[in-house]
Amino acid sequence: MSLPTLPGGRARAIWNLRCPVCGVGPVFRSPFTMNERCPHCGEVFGRGEPGYFLGAMYFSYGLGVILITTFTGIIYLYFRNWRLWQLITAGWILFLPLVPAVYRYSRVLWLHFDRVIDPSD
Ligand SMILES: [Zn+2]
Repeated sequence: MSLPTLPGGRARAIWNLRCPVCGVGPVFRSPFTMNERCPHCGEVFGRGEPGYFLGAMYFSYGLGVILITTFTGIIYLYFRNWRLWQLITAGWILFLPLVPAVYRYSRVLWLHFDRVIDPSD
């Protein structure tokens, strides 16, 4: 079984935090609460498996490393005389407000990744 083509493409569905199967239904119903099923197509997001979203931690880790490294590099461009621990700490501080977004995008990235590599249910 292969996944149908999403309206607007998979990248757009991920950017808009949409269902990995139909690309229409929102994955989250509030900033921190996921829908159990897609409100549009009825897909069960967690596949009924306990611990299913542990895989999202890999995406969360990757996004965190990319963002903190980027912030640290940008800060270094402006404050070249700072020590490394100061640069990294400042990068962490800039990263903190993005934690809710990283949480949401890591879960949606995991959902899409999982459905692409294993579309069967
Ligand atoms: Zn759907």
